[in-house]
Amino acid sequence: MTFSIHGLAVSRGVAIGRAVLVASSRADVAHYFIETEKAEEEIKRVRASRNAVMEEIVRLQHDLPKDAPHEIAALLDVHLMLLQDEQLTNGVKHWITERHYNAEWALTTQYELIARQFDDMEDEYLRERKADLEQVVERILRHMKGVASPVQAAVRAGSSRKQSQQDLLLDDTMDVPLVLVAHDISPADMLQFKQSLFAGFATDVGGKTSHTAIVARSMDIPAVVGARSASQLIKQDDWVIIDGDAGVLIVDPSPIILAEYGFQQRQGELERERLNRLKHTPAVTMDGQRVELLANIEMPDDTLGAVKAGAVGVGLFRTEFLFMGRSGKLPDEDEQYLAYRKAIEGMHGLPVTIRTVDIGSDKLLDRPVGKAQDRHLNPALGLRAIRWSLADPPMFLAQLRAILRAAAHGPVNLLVPMLTHASEIRQTMALIDHARVLLDNQGIAYGPVRLGAMIEIPAAALTLKLFLRNFDFLSIGTNDLIQYTLAIDRADESVAHLYDPCHPAVLRLIADTISECQRQGKGVTVCGEMAGDVTMTRLLLGLGLRSFSMHPSQILAVKQQILRADAGKLALWAATVLASEEPAALLQNP
Ligand code: PEP
Ligand code: MG
Repeated sequence: MTFSIHGLAVSRGVAIGRAVLVASSRADVAHYFIETEKAEEEIKRVRASRNAVMEEIVRLQHDLPKDAPHEIAALLDVHLMLLQDEQLTNGVKHWITERHYNAEWALTTQYELIARQFDDMEDEYLRERKADLEQVVERILRHMKGVASPVQAAVRAGSSRKQSQQDLLLDDTMDVPLVLVAHDISPADMLQFKQSLFAGFATDVGGKTSHTAIVARSMDIPAVVGARSASQLIKQDDWVIIDGDAGVLIVDPSPIILAEYGFQQRQGELERERLNRLKHTPAVTMDGQRVELLANIEMPDDTLGAVKAGAVGVGLFRTEFLFMGRSGKLPDEDEQYLAYRKAIEGMHGLPVTIRTVDIGSDKLLDRPVGKAQDRHLNPALGLRAIRWSLADPPMFLAQLRAILRAAAHGPVNLLVPMLTHASEIRQTMALIDHARVLLDNQGIAYGPVRLGAMIEIPAAALTLKLFLRNFDFLSIGTNDLIQYTLAIDRADESVAHLYDPCHPAVLRLIADTISECQRQGKGVTVCGEMAGDVTMTRLLLGLGLRSFSMHPSQILAVKQQILRADAGKLALWAATVLASEEPAALLQNP
């Protein structure tokens, strides 16, 4: 039966596909497609692990002390029975041979299906066997983990499918689009999925500017977050429509709804083709104001998309993504240098703004390193970004040295996140100087950098003179500026309705930052999600902004707004919006 689930729209477009459910406890299970001839190998892999787990249990039974409670022996019997259950083994085989799922994926898929049947059982005793099934499946998965690396496998996920589609003759099941449904996906895991071929994403939790949503947006595929109980209501393999424009999921759609969304999907594709024609058109308003459109990237390879979309540089390289998902082993100076150099070379002489690492809050390392990241306190207000860097000077120095060295290969702006205090600015400057002295002493080549500060804490926006005295340019991080001005956790869907980019206080801080920079002749960019939101383009232009940094996928739509805008007229209108108590109401009619 068709039903819909409402969430938050984070990435535009429509995806129609079969649901791949990733339960949070099994979120790190690899999901990738195998080549047809590898099916037997995969089946053997599950079988071997299942047999090993059975042997473990038999051993446990054998070693049970004579006075052990009778329930324990009975439980082990149940586990043995479940391990031999035909529905489990045959189901796993089915997913591997028919759908080309890798072994772990096949096992968790079949688990979800059987678990649902347990849920529907009248008999309480049988219903409770679901927990036993979960335990045996987890045991098999743990055993398999020793055999294959699931994280690496996840990276291979999409590329293996892509390759399979190109190189092999496959049956129809390979062509079914898949959409990923999960309770939550960490930003690092999301990045891993970037190379896969999922047609869309939906998660139960998350806000519009949570980092998971940001990475989903960078993938330019439809996504909905904050869809509360989606991962419980949607079943493995259900047909799901992800409407990334409206923030709605439609489960098990009727043929009429499918036809309607199929039409919408094609319209979206046509619109994209139309926008593509703007790629080489300079971003100039109708009254001749030139606007700089820059790209936000997470990985060096993202420069390909940036260049393709016609970005005139990188306005924000979120380097923390190089640090995440590495089991706590941080990239050393050389590895970072190569990554930054790759991004610089990828931009072919256009400037690259490299932001120093912004770990913390919702961007956690998968394992704490150095000063512990505390998940239990208040991470958005804790040891995050520059605070984390200054707490570990050797780590920070390695990053600064890597950026300075990479700057020998092209124009680089070095951007520092979350600065608030004069003392933090002093310490940062001292470390940058120190990095240069060390490189000089060692005779290692490095290049010049322009220094910039993120304005993303209200305290910084209210003490602009301090920042402008010390930095060559500023970059407004509206995602955090809104979060900290309004005291709304940007990743918490329960307060997402209060996360308001148009709140008069937020607009005032943005407007003052832009005008003070203009007065002092310093560059200012907006690099938060607001820069890529076409509903905000005219207002930002009216407030005097001439430099926008956003995901490459948003550049052409924003350019279209710019080409249709009269910046002079918008300035007058923006002044009235700024003076209003409810600016959002005026946004539609400049
Ligand atoms: C911001 O806060 O607006 C920003 C660009 O940084 P991030 O989203 O990485 O916190
Ligand atoms: Mg920020």
